[in-house]
Amino acid sequence: MKLIRFGSEGQEKPGLQLENKRIDVSAFAEDFNEKFFENNGLERLKEWLKTNEASCPAVAESLRLGSPIARPSKLVCVGLNYAQHAAEAGMKVPSEPVLFFKSTTAIVGPNDKVIIPKNSEKTDWEVELAIVIGKKASYVSLEEADDHIAGYVLHNDVSERAFQIEKEGQWCKGKGCDTFAPLGPFMATKDEVKDPNNLKLWLDVNGERLQDSSTSDFIFNVQHVVSYISQFMTLLPGDVISTGTPFGVGLGFKPPRYLKSGDVMRLGIDGLGVQEQTAVAYK
Ligand code: ZN
Repeated sequence: MKLIRFGSEGQEKPGLQLENKRIDVSAFAEDFNEKFFENNGLERLKEWLKTNEASCPAVAESLRLGSPIARPSKLVCVGLNYAQHAAEAGMKVPSEPVLFFKSTTAIVGPNDKVIIPKNSEKTDWEVELAIVIGKKASYVSLEEADDHIAGYVLHNDVSERAFQIEKEGQWCKGKGCDTFAPLGPFMATKDEVKDPNNLKLWLDVNGERLQDSSTSDFIFNVQHVVSYISQFMTLLPGDVISTGTPFGVGLGFKPPRYLKSGDVMRLGIDGLGVQEQTAVAYK
């Protein structure tokens, strides 16, 4: 299944992306949140559809998409998970996953505007594969990791490099600004993704391809990342883990290239759809 949430910001309703249309599953009466995933919501929704799909209203293509999952308890990110990206960032390949948090208030829909924050000159893009947790994960082994995954979603880990790197302390200053985490268009359940560790991912800015890689270049794969993070914190159903970005971010160009108001980012991952955001100045 492909979960979507649609409607105006803060008022999103749950739906599904089918082969060639979107349907409204509000009548199932559950949002795609922690409770839904925790209580076997995916299986129950599948069962419910057998008798109710035909009566689900269609969702107009013109309607806004929100994040396909409700605001999670946390959005954990892996940094420097592709060797060539670590090199362009001038950092060494880590021996263990580098972790940081993104604020969950940064989450927006896949095609919403991305706001270049107040006093920002170095807003940058990062196409990433994100994992959605399906089952509470604490001290999970590599072998058990898959069992704790609900599905996958496309994520743009928008980053402000001066806030992230040039200021003191943690990276989170440059990662959690409003609109810095577009998620979607849909969350594909894991049965729809044959091998998450072998997916092409790409990102264009104003039609020019700047990132073009595969998750087969991961330093730490999906299972490793879930297991590793669960050694340090409990992952709750609906939590999101973003797995890192490949080569081709603005920071890596000589000279660096950053977003200006009016620039358009378009990004995608095999089987997980496409996002498009226009950058706008804060006002
Ligand atoms: Zn990232």
